[in-house]
Amino acid sequence: MVYLLRNSTEKYMNVIVIGAGISGLIAAYELERSGINPILLEASDRVGGRVATDDVDGFLLDRGFQVLLTAYPEARRYLDFEVLKLKKFYPGALILKPGSSYTISDPLRNPSEILGMAFSPVGSFMDKLKIYKLTKSLQKKEIDEIFNSPNISTIQFLKDYGFSEKIITNFFKPFFKGIFLENELKTSARMFQFVFKMFGEGFAAVPENGMKAIPEYLKSKLKHTELKLNAPVTKIEGHQVFLENGEVLHGDKIIIAGKSDHLLPQLKGQIQPYRSVYNLYFSLEKSFLIRPMIGLIPDNKFLINNIVFMTDISKAYSKNGKALLSVSVIKPIQNTEKLENLVAIELEAISGIKAEYFKPIKTYEIKEALPDVEDMKADLPFTNTKIYDHIFLAGDYLLNGSINAAMTSGRKAVEALLLTTQDPR
Ligand SMILES: Cc1cc2nc3c(=O)[nH]c(=O)nc-3n(C[C@H](O)[C@H](O)[C@H](O)COP(=O)(O)OP(=O)(O)OC[C@H]3O[C@@H](n4cnc5c(N)ncnc54)[C@H](O)[C@@H]3O)c2cc1C
Repeated sequence: MVYLLRNSTEKYMNVIVIGAGISGLIAAYELERSGINPILLEASDRVGGRVATDDVDGFLLDRGFQVLLTAYPEARRYLDFEVLKLKKFYPGALILKPGSSYTISDPLRNPSEILGMAFSPVGSFMDKLKIYKLTKSLQKKEIDEIFNSPNISTIQFLKDYGFSEKIITNFFKPFFKGIFLENELKTSARMFQFVFKMFGEGFAAVPENGMKAIPEYLKSKLKHTELKLNAPVTKIEGHQVFLENGEVLHGDKIIIAGKSDHLLPQLKGQIQPYRSVYNLYFSLEKSFLIRPMIGLIPDNKFLINNIVFMTDISKAYSKNGKALLSVSVIKPIQNTEKLENLVAIELEAISGIKAEYFKPIKTYEIKEALPDVEDMKADLPFTNTKIYDHIFLAGDYLLNGSINAAMTSGRKAVEALLLTTQDPR
């Protein structure tokens, strides 16, 4: 990052950041670091955008199951894991089938388990060796190299790598469906390799008190930003930013941090569609999983794709001692009326615990969860974020749907703003 504006007259220019999701919070932080005091406008009543946690009946409910990967380079740059009190998932996954369950562990971290895995019916011994080989080879690859590799689908990559149908069905499909939020694994193998590398080099984790601690931490780092909540922007005309409440602000420079096609009609149709997910929460007397891990349901007949007892990961997710179960459904649903009942019946089939013991707390339908980015990237030339001389874009949709990408995009937008401001041409 270049700090061109410090001690220059430019430091007094008005910069408006629209959107206080992760990308907007990083943009505001980087602006502050360069000596600019931005105005940060957020439509809703809180910061964080798609990273949110609700407090419902004594439970902390993340709005959509999501995790922070501690190996994300941007997370290491901007977050303090100690302050967030990160709680780690046990690496690997539990494969759950009616009447049986199997563990897929991380062969690098738990080499002793590879032999046990060799005799599990989840995949062949060769599959497990290939997981080991893939983890090792991705450790050696730079992230840029991964994102410059051929843009084939994840499913094609797995087949080309020689994984068996069995391990693809039992492990890769449900695991990555839950991450990509799509059922075919058509997502670019670049993203697959990136995520696999991140899992291999760090941990999946959540802050002790829910995912919202991440944006709240980023907000706490802002000392000179004027944050306006409940301030939806309705349009931008030239340098004028119109707020729903009638206020009009002048921005010498404007960063739109988040989906921007509603503010720049010329971008209509250029921004990708979004992938959606249903996230259901249930309470239960206690967890039925043997470890604090993600549970995968590989059987395609089930609505449920993956489950996690959030209270196995962080006890603070429940204030009443009951276990909190998060269930993700990726399949499109025609009629959601009986969704909780249908899911509870499936939970009974998996766990042997009667459906009526699973008490529904809340169901979220998250329509715009992840941008469906075709050409996934890890980084972008900072000039690509500049759309006009005074308007810059940030947001995960420019790169790939992840907290890491949202952070990169916020930083890149500020780099572009600073460099193009200094250039007299
Ligand atoms: C269910 C789900 C699961 C996920 N799982 C993971 C995961 O496991 N790991 C991971 O790394 N990532 C995950 N993600 C993705 C990650 O949350 C996003 O990539 C990231 O939060 C996007 O941040 P952003 O700033 O780009 O956009 P957003 O979070 O969408 O922020 C945009 C902000 O702009 C505001 N805004 C929009 N229009 C206006 C306007 N006109 N005026 C003022 N404000 C406006 C919005 O209110 C919002 O606050 C998941 C996301 C979801 C929803």
